[in-house]
Amino acid sequence: MPAMARSHPPVVDVHIHPPIGSHIPSGYDAYLNERYPGGARWLAEQFGSPERVIANMDASGVDYSLVLAQVVPITSEVVTNEMVAEFCRGQPRLLPCATVNPYLEHDPAGLLERLVVEQGFRALKLYPTYGYYYPNDRLLYPVYAVAQRLGIPVLVHTGSSVFPGSRLKYGDPLYLDDVAVDFPNLAILQSHGGRPIWYDHAETLARYHPNVYIDISGLPPQKLPEYFPNLRRLARKLVFGSDWPGPPGTVRGNIEAIRALGLPEDVTADILGGTAARLLRLEQPGG
Ligand SMILES: [Zn+2]
Repeated sequence: MPAMARSHPPVVDVHIHPPIGSHIPSGYDAYLNERYPGGARWLAEQFGSPERVIANMDASGVDYSLVLAQVVPITSEVVTNEMVAEFCRGQPRLLPCATVNPYLEHDPAGLLERLVVEQGFRALKLYPTYGYYYPNDRLLYPVYAVAQRLGIPVLVHTGSSVFPGSRLKYGDPLYLDDVAVDFPNLAILQSHGGRPIWYDHAETLARYHPNVYIDISGLPPQKLPEYFPNLRRLARKLVFGSDWPGPPGTVRGNIEAIRALGLPEDVTADILGGTAARLLRLEQPGG
């Protein structure tokens, strides 16, 4: 029986990375070792099981998390769709998020369709700066068409990445304008809001296009009014994500900081999960 969400609307974290990857590139490994003593192995021991992730969600006040696959071997670890499916199996609070890489797969659109229809994946994540393609690459159009038809949202990494080898030019949110225009019924989440040089691009897209949002993972919530001067008008397009794992207490702290922004209560509830629940169709039977 699915766990009942404790808050209504639920608190939904749309951006977590389970530390279960293989193929750790040396630059990424060095980054992890600097940040966490013991690096990738320590993270996997601490958080590499669904039970540990759920315990952390409980400690943070999160009802559901979107668990991201990641297949960009040039710059980062490989967490396959199969790994994510296995990780989330039998855990209704862990929502599997697929990835495709248009330069590694022959038929990325067909792959996405199978993952959603046969395996219950709830969203798609793309990593242009890690995988070296623009998000409006025509190879991705059949993928967007499938996502739009099946009604799943797509998260696209925008802005900088700390992983060595990432290429920033692919991270300009402006390329998503094409996608938003050509797929008006596809929900697009700009992860990290184009940090740190394209906040204005991300904000403009989110305000112009009804189908474009900002996943605020990786952005300290107390800085949002500085990054987005029109925060009050933009707030309904913001979606909470944590980019976890991170230092202990950060997810809870970020949720508290969002509540402290002084936005209307219903807007805050939408940022923390109401909007994500709608986009991910959590309220539907079987959700
Ligand atoms: Zn991330």
